[in-house]
Amino acid sequence: MKKYRFLLLWCAILCLLLCSCGKKAEKTAETNPNETPVVTETKVPTTFSLKDVPAFDGDPFVAVNDNQPYFTDEEKQVTGVFEDYAPLDDLGRCGVTYACVGKALMPTEKRGDISSVKPTGWRNRQYDFVDGKSLYNRCHLIGYQLSGENANNRNLITGTRYMNVDGMLPFENMVADYVKETNGRVLYRVTPIFDGDNLLADGVLMEAFSLEDKGDSVCYCVFCYNVQPGVILDYKTGENRLENEEVGTENGTYVLNTLRKKFHKENCESVNSMNPKNRKNYTGSRQKLIDDGYAPCGSCNP
Ligand SMILES: [Zn+2]
Repeated sequence: MKKYRFLLLWCAILCLLLCSCGKKAEKTAETNPNETPVVTETKVPTTFSLKDVPAFDGDPFVAVNDNQPYFTDEEKQVTGVFEDYAPLDDLGRCGVTYACVGKALMPTEKRGDISSVKPTGWRNRQYDFVDGKSLYNRCHLIGYQLSGENANNRNLITGTRYMNVDGMLPFENMVADYVKETNGRVLYRVTPIFDGDNLLADGVLMEAFSLEDKGDSVCYCVFCYNVQPGVILDYKTGENRLENEEVGTENGTYVLNTLRKKFHKENCESVNSMNPKNRKNYTGSRQKLIDDGYAPCGSCNP
């Protein structure tokens, strides 16, 4: 047994030596400042798992992996600037966005209209207590101020106002400030994290590392929660409702007036006088009716 262990140890050391030599050789071959690096690595860092993220507890973000980005030493050797956006998947969802942000990547024009993009899970609703009222924003993964990418559908996800402003923006600003102040570059990756086939992301993983000072100024690895305090989100579809809104889990039976957009109890008097053309029986969620623009009748109070 002892001998076996010893052998294993030697194998490990040998591997380590071989690997590091290999890396070195690759690096020198790659260092050509005139070449634009081609990035093919658009996968979620394999070591990251949503299971490692604690449930939302009132803070818009949480540090993961001891706040150390998952970039490899090789990735940190990149020259110049670049940006890369993963193609949408089969469900139309965004993937990894990855950039080396420098002044050359930043926009020189004012931001344009992005309302043409409908990211997955876009079931927007207005809530009075949400800043700007709209629950959802078209959330840039790599912020416009960093890359100048506007209506790029590979870079926009459905994100709550809270995630956009309280979660992501401060981290994005850190990168922008560093680049503007020092003219340095930041390796930057933002990954939307979808659980299973969900259309709404649970959150985004944000990683950044300032290259010129080896992470002294900017170095983080955080998960921003795609939540909105006071609102319950259905991550499968993006549907949402007030936290303390009464939702009958059991279905009710109502009679709808499809013209007047009212719903009644079956025994309501006005049901009898309703034009059959506009009359429709309905069994299902009461909240769904309200979401669809129906109002409860004032006399039968369904
Ligand atoms: Zn009624």
